[in-house]
Amino acid sequence: MAIASPPVPVQEDLNPFHIAKQQFETAAAKLNLEPGLRAMLSSPRRCLVLSLPIRMDDGTIKVFDGYRVQHNVARGPGKGGIRYHPGVTLDEVKALASWMTWKCATVNIPLGGAKGGIICDPHKLSKGELERLTRRYAAEISVIIGPDRDIPAPDVYTDGQIMAWIMDTFSMMAGGSAPAVVTGKPIFLGGSLGRNEATARGCVFVIREACREKNINLKHSTVSIQGFGNAGSIAADLLYHEGAKVIAVSDSKSGVMNQRGLDVPALLKHKQKTGSVAGFPGSEPIDNAKVLEAECDILIPAALENQITAANADRIKAKIVAEAANGPTTPAADQILHKKGVMVLPDILANAGGVTVSYFEWVQDLAADFWDEDVVNKKLEKVMVRSFNDVLAMATTHNVDMRTGAFILAIDRVAVATRTRGVWP
Ligand code: GLU
Repeated sequence: MAIASPPVPVQEDLNPFHIAKQQFETAAAKLNLEPGLRAMLSSPRRCLVLSLPIRMDDGTIKVFDGYRVQHNVARGPGKGGIRYHPGVTLDEVKALASWMTWKCATVNIPLGGAKGGIICDPHKLSKGELERLTRRYAAEISVIIGPDRDIPAPDVYTDGQIMAWIMDTFSMMAGGSAPAVVTGKPIFLGGSLGRNEATARGCVFVIREACREKNINLKHSTVSIQGFGNAGSIAADLLYHEGAKVIAVSDSKSGVMNQRGLDVPALLKHKQKTGSVAGFPGSEPIDNAKVLEAECDILIPAALENQITAANADRIKAKIVAEAANGPTTPAADQILHKKGVMVLPDILANAGGVTVSYFEWVQDLAADFWDEDVVNKKLEKVMVRSFNDVLAMATTHNVDMRTGAFILAIDRVAVATRTRGVWP
């Protein structure tokens, strides 16, 4: 008799754009969206693919690949960050652009979805090379961006300085001053108070609401954070000051753990001084898997895509997963976590604080009228709490997880706008 061979493990499709489409289709099916509209909303409206020749410091010319994708602009100008990373691909940028569409709609701000990226390792470029690369990219995308067209912002490994160069390049080419063409700018160039902390602050607001829902006392909770960049490090600091115990964190180089809770302010200083969390006094070193699988109440993936997959979802012990990163959880992992009763606060809700305060920055720039930080933070809190409740209500009504709930809410809003505007011509 033939012996049945063991089942071949099904390889998960980790292409971010395929994942984004799958998330879209799952929710669109619940909405009974008409096929034409479904096709319109599942693909990006426009993809700009660029070759960027840059003169390096040694006199040679190097050519970088760059992208700007506009997914949907039915509810307002495109909005979304620019990523500088060696792992950037067109499909990743397409996924990130579509998540921006759904993110802006989830929190109900009048903006569409876009994203940009350059395949590069900015840590290996000199400041001059980084500036020339940024200005060349800004000039190339100037044909599709603008305060009423598409408004870039920071994302992984880009910052206020890079936004300032984009703003300057665009303004020089336009022969004027256009601060509203990018957000996440330095405060003295028309940036908004609170923007730098907004992604983390927004994430903490929805964590607070989720804790209430799950009967977890945030002040006595334990937290593990993967990623110690803008979102992860500031979330650690905010949660530490809320009284939560941050027991584990990692950055791209290494991870550290202390079951009794890390001294986050000291850790921030250590990272600033040494460039990494590694070797932080009073902590033990741990690897990436241990950070994700740590025994804790709240897990915050704050790095890159595809960190929680079918391969490790079963070992996640947190009760709440708050996605400060974009796309950290795959659809297969979502199912496993949902079955386990883990509440996943999806990226398009959990990290929407960043784009929400970007929206506030754009409004302030257009009005040339700037708000106090407590006004910004109060407005952000209102948006995040309302959106959490909207998503929870949708998830409950349709008996689905929070991600599908958020997608249903967002797709419905974008569908109404697209349908009402009609198809041109
Ligand atoms: N890059 C951030 C995000 O993924 C912010 C985008 C923005 O502010 O436009 O949401």
